Amino acid sequence: MKIGIVGCAGRMGRMLVAEVLAADGCELAGGCELAGSDFLGLDPGELAGVKATGLTVGGDAGALFQASDAVIDFTVPAASAANALLAVGRGAAFIIGTTGLGAEHMKTLRQVSEKCAIVQAANMSVGVNVLLGLTKQAAGILGEDYDIEIVEMHHRHKVDAPSGTALALGAAAAEGRGVDLEKASQRVRDGHTGARNRGDIGFATLRGGDVVGDHTVVFAAEGERIELTHKASSREIFARGAVRAALWAGDKPPGLYTMRDVLGL
Ligand code: NAD
Repeated sequence: MKIGIVGCAGRMGRMLVAEVLAADGCELAGGCELAGSDFLGLDPGELAGVKATGLTVGGDAGALFQASDAVIDFTVPAASAANALLAVGRGAAFIIGTTGLGAEHMKTLRQVSEKCAIVQAANMSVGVNVLLGLTKQAAGILGEDYDIEIVEMHHRHKVDAPSGTALALGAAAAEGRGVDLEKASQRVRDGHTGARNRGDIGFATLRGGDVVGDHTVVFAAEGERIELTHKASSREIFARGAVRAALWAGDKPPGLYTMRDVLGL
């Protein structure tokens, strides 16, 4: 399978190039970057610190889709939604790791997924996807006597908050409880907030240093507290999951899939 990487000079993009070059069953179709980027014309394999590939970083995502059976995109929400439309023309599988997607972006993905296989997940690591399942299960068993708070910490460069993974954990908790996250979530607290509302699912965000991604789901009741924690120590786990998703999606019918589908969870 020929896999292309959009945003191949980014932090995740370089990891993805390295993973495609290392994984069995696939080859690097190429990589693209923003038009005008300083990285255009460079070798994506060298940028990733692996080896020369004879390919050059392009500025045309359309050309990358033409050359690829599957494309992986870890960029920014507007770019990922626009690139999804390119997947339709080529019939390529499209794997989106970008976080911070809004309702409009998701609407585009749902439309495109009628014509091609899309895998979209805010976190592509196996461990986090197991945590999502545990969170849903615990929320269902424990009920509203247990206040749910989701705490996340990421590196200082992260631009969206709470993290996509924290929101996915909130959605899993809400699903387990049978409530609507939009109505139950408490995303910001500042000043005289009053007492906590029963049933709220709270979020707290920390940013600093080079933290790859820590997430804890706290279930706090009178007299006891359960904490479920996942700590990522390398971004490789996300790249490995994304390439696994690309290989999985290659022969799947059109649809909007998640990592839970890819991992059979
Ligand atoms: P980054 O800023 O280092 O890299 C993004 C790259 O995309 C940049 O090189 C940028 O130039 C490029 N880009 C932006 N718009 C583009 C366009 N239209 N065409 C081509 N290239 C374009 O960011 P990062 O740390 O690599 O993270 C990227 C995204 O991936 C973020 O949304 C982050 O939250 C998400 N992420 C997801 C997971 C996951 O498992 N799903 C894991 C880690 C990061």
